[in-house]
Amino acid sequence: MRVAIAGAGLAGLACAKYLTDAGHTPIVLESRDVLGGLVAAWKDEEGDWYETGLHAFFGAYPNMLQLLKELGIEDRLQWKQHTLIFNQPEKPGVLSRFDVPDIPAPFNVIMSIIRNNDMLTWEQKVRFAIGLTPAIVRGQKYVEDMDKYSLLEWLRRQGIGERVSSDVFIAASKALTFIDPDKVSATIILTALNKFLQERYGSKIAFLDGSPTERLCQPIVDYIEARGGEVHLKKPLKEILLNPDGSVQSFLIRGLDGAPDQTVTADAYVSAMSVDVMKVLMPHSWRSDPFFQKLDGLEGVPVINLHLWFDRKLTDIDQLLFSRSDLLSVYADMSVTCKEYADPDRSMLELVLAPAKDWIDKSDQEIIDATMVEIKKLFPQHFEGDHPTQLRKYKVVKTPRSVYTASPGRQAYRPEQVTPVANFFLAGSYTMQQYLGSMEGAVLSGKLAAEAIGERATALDPSTSAKVLAVS
Ligand SMILES: Cc1cc2nc3c(=O)[nH]c(=O)nc-3n(C[C@H](O)[C@H](O)[C@H](O)COP(=O)(O)OP(=O)(O)OC[C@H]3O[C@@H](n4cnc5c(N)ncnc54)[C@H](O)[C@@H]3O)c2cc1C
Repeated sequence: MRVAIAGAGLAGLACAKYLTDAGHTPIVLESRDVLGGLVAAWKDEEGDWYETGLHAFFGAYPNMLQLLKELGIEDRLQWKQHTLIFNQPEKPGVLSRFDVPDIPAPFNVIMSIIRNNDMLTWEQKVRFAIGLTPAIVRGQKYVEDMDKYSLLEWLRRQGIGERVSSDVFIAASKALTFIDPDKVSATIILTALNKFLQERYGSKIAFLDGSPTERLCQPIVDYIEARGGEVHLKKPLKEILLNPDGSVQSFLIRGLDGAPDQTVTADAYVSAMSVDVMKVLMPHSWRSDPFFQKLDGLEGVPVINLHLWFDRKLTDIDQLLFSRSDLLSVYADMSVTCKEYADPDRSMLELVLAPAKDWIDKSDQEIIDATMVEIKKLFPQHFEGDHPTQLRKYKVVKTPRSVYTASPGRQAYRPEQVTPVANFFLAGSYTMQQYLGSMEGAVLSGKLAAEAIGERATALDPSTSAKVLAVS
């Protein structure tokens, strides 16, 4: 069966990969000239990589790890020491660590919390443990029910003090969803916590050894193409054309650089585009269907990814760090953490600016000036004396609509991969799957879409093969 997929982010590529495994022929159509969507990366004029996002992989990413294994590239993940490291804003330059010992879960995480005395007092630890008990004991059903509360509301209801919420949970919700605890659904953070508590290496972090475009997406494309599938860049979906019965007749692809539009016909069709684009391209006659109406409840959240190249080394810490700054979320010195970006003499900090709502429209210079104020608090020793560290160059990558905004009540709006239209499916980390808007969620959604297509394969007409036709 031939399947046309719009979008070559991780969801679209994973969907295509699993379709080829099942003997189908995917045709992936990507609007941009780069693979990866939210993991896309580019080289600057000096050959240095810059990315849409600083990406951390977790031990609790079974579908991503399985995919890498199936591609034979699992050695491209550089696993770091099992520890979570936080800056302490009240003590510039000082770090606080949650070192997770190599003992079974959940005792490893509990031990890391017990041993950390910088961020939590004993009273806070006890309150934290009691407050978290229902999420652990009553499982995912309880966690899903908590979607009606923001994380902050849930923490208050559980009697967990403000200090715990400000110290640990601001950092966690900014890192996982790019929004603050008063705006994020409790379900999201509790789901992540549960995964970390259930799996021995769940909270262990890895970095890819190079750019996601080359080191992760390209191998998926090679795999697909070696098995008869196709992946095309610069093929933006312009319109979903319908049959009289409302099923998809073809994808209309916009012709670029003076080329005519094209139609791509197939046996099944997948949108692996972001929810914001899907809403715009949704055929008019589908808009009254409650399934598709749900998408109106979802919207991408703004985020900014920053790259700062310095004239010397600022740190040798080989790990993701939680800045706990109002402006910034997580960061890492990529000259240390990532093999292909390595530089023994000079640092390249990659930092996520979140929440980015008030910054997305500001100039790059304004953003960098504000960031430098924060950097001086994170590394004060390097900005004192006669020869302070100099910023050599920077790159700001703004994404006005990234992953779906995980505010309270959103779970009910996340659609299944199977739609009411017999030959049309959805993939994307915003669709319903047990992980939040993440690389793992994207891969799982693509896999689920491929499975659903396989199940419907017999009901669909396998005699039609996908063809690219010029519109007359
Ligand atoms: C700053 C940042 C940091 C992040 N950090 C992490 C992290 O540490 N760990 C983690 O797991 N996740 C992280 N994420 C989230 C993760 O990147 C996403 O959840 C995941 O990559 C989404 O994949 P997707 O395929 O669902 O969507 P997308 O990546 O959005 O893919 C959609 C694709 O559709 C294409 N498209 C759009 N319109 C059209 C059209 N008309 N025709 C054809 N194609 C079209 C787009 O160009 C894109 O390639 C981060 C994201 C950002 C932005």
